[in-house]
Amino acid sequence: MVLWSALYLALLLLPVALSVLAARAAGLEPRPWLDDWASGLAMIGFSGVLLSFFLLGRFKPLSGWLGSDLLMQTHQWFARTFVLLLVLHPFFYTLWRAPPGPVDTSAAQALRIGGGDWGLATGLLALGALLLLVATAVWRQRSGIRHETWRLLHSALALAVLGLGLHHTLVSGRYAQLDAVALFWWILASLALVSWLWVYLARPLWQGARPYRIEKLQRCAEKIWLLEATPCGPWPARFRAGQFAWIKLRQRWPHRDNPFSICNAPDARGTLTFLIKEAGDMTRALPRSRLGDALYFDGPHGRFEVPTDAPAVVMHAGGIGVAPFVGLLADAVARRDARPIRLIYADTHPRQMVDVEALTGVGALADFAIVPMVQEPDADWQGLRGRLDAAGLALALQHPDVAPLVDSACHLICGPEPMMDAVETALTARGTPAERIVSEHFQYDFEGSSPLARRRRHHWWLMSGFTLAGLALALLWR
Ligand SMILES: Cc1cc2nc3c(=O)[nH]c(=O)nc-3n(C[C@H](O)[C@H](O)[C@H](O)COP(=O)(O)OP(=O)(O)OC[C@H]3O[C@@H](n4cnc5c(N)ncnc54)[C@H](O)[C@@H]3O)c2cc1C
Repeated sequence: MVLWSALYLALLLLPVALSVLAARAAGLEPRPWLDDWASGLAMIGFSGVLLSFFLLGRFKPLSGWLGSDLLMQTHQWFARTFVLLLVLHPFFYTLWRAPPGPVDTSAAQALRIGGGDWGLATGLLALGALLLLVATAVWRQRSGIRHETWRLLHSALALAVLGLGLHHTLVSGRYAQLDAVALFWWILASLALVSWLWVYLARPLWQGARPYRIEKLQRCAEKIWLLEATPCGPWPARFRAGQFAWIKLRQRWPHRDNPFSICNAPDARGTLTFLIKEAGDMTRALPRSRLGDALYFDGPHGRFEVPTDAPAVVMHAGGIGVAPFVGLLADAVARRDARPIRLIYADTHPRQMVDVEALTGVGALADFAIVPMVQEPDADWQGLRGRLDAAGLALALQHPDVAPLVDSACHLICGPEPMMDAVETALTARGTPAERIVSEHFQYDFEGSSPLARRRRHHWWLMSGFTLAGLALALLWR
């Protein structure tokens, strides 16, 4: 995390540092202080936007190193910072405050804004596209816009911001007139474009040539399906337990893939198993699939795993959040993991719960127990009653199978957002250190109120502050 934060900060500030150094080397006349602040804000904002293309570029080494939650959080939160900087930057230019009268050509020249200058037009269009992009992302859930439509719009707008923003930077940016700085922008924008093409063109073509075939499709709980696929040729999937993949069924449209956790242990055949809950368009259409249908796989991604040095593991699953745990448990069985492992598994009703024992063979584990909990139990229900909120979790953590392990164990959490929030809050209140709480989100709108969620937001604030401090320092050197 520290390494990643330092790297990210350095990348954001790189164009500013490069501009200062190149301007000094070229002996460029200094401008008013505020004009350089304006340029600096724009440079940080635009490099941040271009870096977002890599964060979302589905590069396996990156998501395997940092995990998808961190990548998505970085993208979502910092997008707000970059938009703010980009919206603010034109107002910092002193040209705006020039007294009325004949145009001050020297200032106009310095800012490279003049009559008929396309740079200004593309800058405004880029800003408009960026605002639309962020607004549709922030209000996506509330607007009721279909996920696929939104993704298509998001990727098209991102491309527009890239092209228009690059043009504006190269034409209107004072420092982009310096060869080294212009080259930097060309390289960064080209890499961003390559990331976009990788996700929306290269990967889909690659997947299209390496299909999998549905081998098994069976209902294993209310509205939950077990899907098993094997590769049609010699391209077995390689993954670590707990990772997820973007999959498409039957069709190859690049924006129509959905992420699902892989629920089996890696095997030589390259089998992929998923537990899929009916939620919307794609998942509700799943029961209409047939054996032999094509499945296209983009993965593995993410990093949701048990640290090897954890003496014990407590898994907290809510609803379909059990899916990655099924993969992790199947892997633990395959590796004959002898550590104490507990699964606290909560759902509304027993009929919505999958049979973890049958799916994973956890009976073979040396030290394992499931602590099930439901809100609406049947008359013969033997497990706990309630939901995984603060009270329910307290009950589960007092369970004789769990209590002795709670304070030493590593806690893994996956489920609906309110449940994840409640578990993170309760564990933190018990003094569990953050390094021993590992969460996987199925939803990418990170608005939790747990201490960990707040800490992640503080980190964003702090990093945004460091970026501005870095800019101020760089400008002192102009
Ligand atoms: C890392 C990760 C792992 C997941 N693992 C599983 C799993 O093992 N089993 C399971 O049943 N579900 C899993 N999900 C959730 C699953 O991706 C969504 O339920 C599914 O994409 C819904 O698609 P839909 O077309 O049926 O529904 P829609 O009607 O399109 O959407 C229903 C909900 O799912 C969200 N959603 C839709 N498409 C996507 C997408 N491409 N990316 C992220 N969210 C989306 C929407 O925001 C909406 O809240 C996982 C999600 C993530 C992010």
